[in-house]
Amino acid sequence: MKYIDVNVGIVGAGPAGLTLANVLREHGISAIVVEKESRDEVETKARAGLIEHRTVAFLKRVGLAGGLLANGMTTESCTFLHEGEAFSVPYADLAGGRKHHIYPQQFLVRDLIATFLDRDGDILFSHEVTALDGGDRTRAATISARSQDGTESVEIRCDFIAACDGSDSIAHQSVPESIRRPVTHQHPFRWLALLAEVPPFVNEIVYGMHATNGAAQMPRTPTVSRFYLQIQDGEKISDWNDERIWTALTDVLVLKDHPVTTGAITEKAIIGRSDHISRNMQHGRIFMLGDAAHTISLAGGKGMNLAIADAETLAAALAEHYGKDDEQPLGRYTTDRQHKIWKAVLFSHWLINLLHSTPRNATPPAFSNELRIATINELRRGGPVARMFAEEYAGE
Ligand SMILES: Cc1cc2nc3c(=O)[nH]c(=O)nc-3n(C[C@H](O)[C@H](O)[C@H](O)COP(=O)(O)OP(=O)(O)OC[C@H]3O[C@@H](n4cnc5c(N)ncnc54)[C@H](O)[C@@H]3O)c2cc1C
Repeated sequence: MKYIDVNVGIVGAGPAGLTLANVLREHGISAIVVEKESRDEVETKARAGLIEHRTVAFLKRVGLAGGLLANGMTTESCTFLHEGEAFSVPYADLAGGRKHHIYPQQFLVRDLIATFLDRDGDILFSHEVTALDGGDRTRAATISARSQDGTESVEIRCDFIAACDGSDSIAHQSVPESIRRPVTHQHPFRWLALLAEVPPFVNEIVYGMHATNGAAQMPRTPTVSRFYLQIQDGEKISDWNDERIWTALTDVLVLKDHPVTTGAITEKAIIGRSDHISRNMQHGRIFMLGDAAHTISLAGGKGMNLAIADAETLAAALAEHYGKDDEQPLGRYTTDRQHKIWKAVLFSHWLINLLHSTPRNATPPAFSNELRIATINELRRGGPVARMFAEEYAGE
């Protein structure tokens, strides 16, 4: 057994864990990150790409935005396509100039790892955390981990544990449900999340809303695009070969003079997403961040942005604890984060219902479809609904 003593033990080398680790390091607080996958796996796992203005400003302030500013793209308007008619919402103009950066999550993760290691930080890759113990007044908190090849067991003794290990967090086993008080919601939509080696057919996000299905294009890099395609309940990946996918996408994403570029699809996954939000994100010395605390629908691109904001709040609270012996910010961590999280949930819930046609088996579809059309018309008109969309989409 190998023993490691450190101020903060962090489970998971995703955006939340790595941002927290880097900021703590800047405050002189020692931290170790334990990650079950290899460095190569985490640096190549494609997921998010849409980074809010506020997140970029924070990363810039703490010296973590170099890669995304040098190599990312920006976007400030998006196109909605409803039954073949297109209209654009210049959301950055409507939201005081707040645009998004587009930078693949795996590139950001790669940058955060490089910076943390450059600053002499320690990451145990290929080590799975198997148990957390929050300790008590006389005992340190502990993280138990073992290497993926089974040759090494590690016990990390720390003042605090930050569970940043995604939606199946080990903290869900260590912190009783009665304390986490989670709420869940199953969305009645399923979709294919696709990654294709094709340049975006237009350099902004396009949402296609059709009577029977929805689709979207998200630029990722000048040569890679993400697509989403709504599918029916019960359909499997094997039902969707590349030809059928491109036919469906080109049917929905019909933009005059901008035909969908087709090419190699490098990733296909079915996402039937449920929201899972812990109303309490801390228990003694264990804190939950990012998807470990709140996994929400992908609509609106909020998950990674919330994860980084959780890390910002917890890092500031830990700095107050170690620097000024002030416990209050740590005590307020959940309260400080919950209203922002619920604001993001509210928006993503609104957007997901706007973007998706009512599933075939839902009743009564006519009423919800008419509401959807009314919302689309208001969005197109550019009045208060468009301004609300812009404010919430761009983020604070
Ligand atoms: C297709 C897709 C597109 C998305 N697009 C966007 C977007 O545009 N904008 C946006 O803001 N969000 C987006 N999201 C959501 C975003 O990817 C997540 O919210 C984000 O990854 C959460 O970060 P995290 O650090 O909390 O967790 P994760 O990124 O999930 O990282 C958790 C880490 O913990 C590790 N781990 C898990 N269990 C253990 C264990 N027991 N021991 C050790 N390590 C462990 C995992 O291997 C992983 O590396 C998207 C998600 C998907 C799937």
